[in-house]
Amino acid sequence: MSTPDNKETMRTEIHTIGEFGLIDKLMLPFSIKNSSTLKGAGDDAAIIDNTGFKTVISTDMLIEGIHFDLMYHPLKHLGYKAVVVNLSDIYAMNARPKQIFVSIGISNRFSVEAVEELYLGIQKACDIYGVDLAGGDTTSSPRGLVLSITAVGQGILEKLVYRNGAKVGDLICVSGDLGAAYLGLQLLEREKRLFLDNPEIQPEFGENNYLIGRQLKPEARVDIIDLFEKHNLTPTAMMDISDGLASEIFHLCKQSKTGAFIEESGVPLLIETELQAIQFGLDPITCALSGGEDYELLFTVKPEDIDKIKFSPDIYIIGEIVPPEDGITLHTKGGNRHAITAQGWTHFSS
Ligand code: ADP
Ligand code: MG
Repeated sequence: MSTPDNKETMRTEIHTIGEFGLIDKLMLPFSIKNSSTLKGAGDDAAIIDNTGFKTVISTDMLIEGIHFDLMYHPLKHLGYKAVVVNLSDIYAMNARPKQIFVSIGISNRFSVEAVEELYLGIQKACDIYGVDLAGGDTTSSPRGLVLSITAVGQGILEKLVYRNGAKVGDLICVSGDLGAAYLGLQLLEREKRLFLDNPEIQPEFGENNYLIGRQLKPEARVDIIDLFEKHNLTPTAMMDISDGLASEIFHLCKQSKTGAFIEESGVPLLIETELQAIQFGLDPITCALSGGEDYELLFTVKPEDIDKIKFSPDIYIIGEIVPPEDGITLHTKGGNRHAITAQGWTHFSS
């Protein structure tokens, strides 16, 4: 457990170098990687040249105390995650992110070193995913940290994938495994409570590093977008799973004006996730459906396209798109049928 205040060995107050000094210091390690970034940070505005491509833009705002807790979220991981979740939105359009813009609101609780730590994570994500930090804004905040990131990407018009393109008969697929990030969060919350009750107690995470890693340092599924390109496959609909599978299926069906039939046995859950859910007295499938923050991709493909990816190691077929009047249902391992709602799933009332 650490707080931004007690972790650093050195503490430089931001006012000693000023806002412009801080921006210069933060930008120093960044260099431009993409030819589409004609003008990056440093001028009044950035200039992006997306000739021939459609410009795909997504933005997110994160507020301390609502979206993250610095008690257990190291600043470097937070910077990394904040970038990755934005990139995930661009990939979910079947597009490629190229630039990000980072705006921060910081209080005097944060030192120069703390902000640099945040930017180390941002830089790591920029390096791994090949994007340029092309600008942002720096302002003061009364207390907490506010972080807003905008990602800009390139897409090919015919290959862009929306939420509204699913058709009856399409197969529903997800990448990776679900529910782990939610259980990671539960573990972190548990350790935080123990720490607050007794600061002498050190965190005890046992064999749960995977679950905690999924919460603190998620990855965006660029590999799945690469796979689509390699196999010349364009999903009919796609979105990333940030709020939980149930909620995302609900949005996808609503926009596509369809229903969906999900097989519980098809929903990918790792054994670590199942075991931890049981330890917390939670139903593993509920964690997978309602947990959120997995940043996996949910997508639908035409049945004739499924051969292109069905043997891919990290893609799971979980169900099928059905007519809207059939509703959105979960077929459990026990043979029951439940209605899926945006909040999760409920027992079928009829
Ligand atoms: P202005 O007063 O015109 O808004 P700023 O001083 O806010 O200009 O920004 C100067 C340059 O530094 C701009 O190119 C801006 O995009 C960039 N910049 C400002 N803050 C950040 C930040 N936190 N991260 C990255 N770039 C930033
Ligand atoms: Mg500004």
